[in-house]
Amino acid sequence: METPSRSSVIIVGAGVSGIAAAKILAEKGVEDIVILEATDRIGGRMHKEAFGGVTVELGAGWIVGVGGKVPNPIWELAAKSSLRTCPSDFSNARYNIYDRSGRIFPGELATDSYRKAVGSAIEKLRKWGGTDGGGGGGGGGGGGGGGGGGGGGGDFSGAAEPPSSPKTPLELAIDFMLHDYEMAEAQPRSTYLDYGEQEYLVADEKGYEDLVHQMAQDFLSFTSVGKILDNRLQFNKVVREIRHSRSGITITTEDGCIYDASYAILSVSIGVLQSDLISFQPSMPRWKMEAIEKLDVTVYTKIYLKFPYKFWPCGPKKEFFIYAHERRGYYTFWQQMENAYPGSNILLVSRETHLIKMIVLFISWHVISKWRMHTLVPIFLL
Ligand SMILES: Cc1cc2nc3c(=O)[nH]c(=O)nc-3n(C[C@H](O)[C@H](O)[C@H](O)COP(=O)(O)OP(=O)(O)OC[C@H]3O[C@@H](n4cnc5c(N)ncnc54)[C@H](O)[C@@H]3O)c2cc1C
Repeated sequence: METPSRSSVIIVGAGVSGIAAAKILAEKGVEDIVILEATDRIGGRMHKEAFGGVTVELGAGWIVGVGGKVPNPIWELAAKSSLRTCPSDFSNARYNIYDRSGRIFPGELATDSYRKAVGSAIEKLRKWGGTDGGGGGGGGGGGGGGGGGGGGGGDFSGAAEPPSSPKTPLELAIDFMLHDYEMAEAQPRSTYLDYGEQEYLVADEKGYEDLVHQMAQDFLSFTSVGKILDNRLQFNKVVREIRHSRSGITITTEDGCIYDASYAILSVSIGVLQSDLISFQPSMPRWKMEAIEKLDVTVYTKIYLKFPYKFWPCGPKKEFFIYAHERRGYYTFWQQMENAYPGSNILLVSRETHLIKMIVLFISWHVISKWRMHTLVPIFLL
């Protein structure tokens, strides 16, 4: 066990927020900082991986909010590190809905169902959520939908009859798309409002995480081959206990090291804060604990599939497509990576759930069974 000298600030976590905080401190002349990172890398949930001859993103993949009046700082960082990106447009997904046997639903049918679902959602908000529907009808292009937030949970018991619930695979898929994605966040979303409605997919061998490396290079020492060599950044340091008092902060890591500082910045995820990985002595105030517990974070699973050939339609407005299954939310969202990596024959399917641990799967042609290939191919028999 060793006790390093006291520093001004300890930053827990070397993801984009931890490194950004450290950079700002360094720019303001606060040089005696220590960054404690649990893993052996910086970037956190920005994490690239080689797969099928290209680089795919395990975590963040999109730069969201571009083209507006206010410049998006992430977009600026991407420009600074010459990150290759390509425009990405989810709004066409609703016209590319496939059934279980591989047939695409006719555009008019999908549009009609979508319009009905938006109407029903607005009706629900009017009936149950308060006097007006929270403004904004869905429908329009770009980021989508309408009423915000649910109006503080209106009284459902008094409603004369509940609006009809979705039943068919098409209705279920649209319901999922609308409620779990487009309307899931309070509108208007400040990201779109401030930075614009365009979205770009990062498609660069360097990975999204290169932004974090660029930032780190501004204040940390690197070797000539790009390895970080700076004792202000300590890897494999899992913070387990934070003691705080008027006289300062004492942090203990899993390997028994103790760090003292005047201040600490905690940049770990909400998921970590909701677990009991880090104990606070004394514990955080009740109002803060409650706020952390109330933040609902979904588990977002990305599954990349590589095939020996392309059997899906490509071209304009075909980037995203929807699978309509009898079970709501069952592998609903698909994306073909042709825009990002032409010729890669890679599909991405994502799943959001509250129940399972985050996994990112890579399934290459070598491991995917013929049975699975045959199950997927029919989805695209047009
Ligand atoms: C699958 C997925 C897809 C996403 N897609 C997008 C997207 O397309 N666009 C977008 O903008 N955002 C996306 N996000 C969100 C984005 O990745 C995060 O908002 C962002 O990376 C968070 O950065 P952060 O620095 O705040 O946290 P993190 O990146 O989580 O960094 C926290 C760091 O703290 C470290 N840490 C945790 N616990 C401890 C401990 N006890 N002791 C020491 N260190 C610890 C972690 O190892 C990590 O390095 C996605 C996230 C995921 C998981």
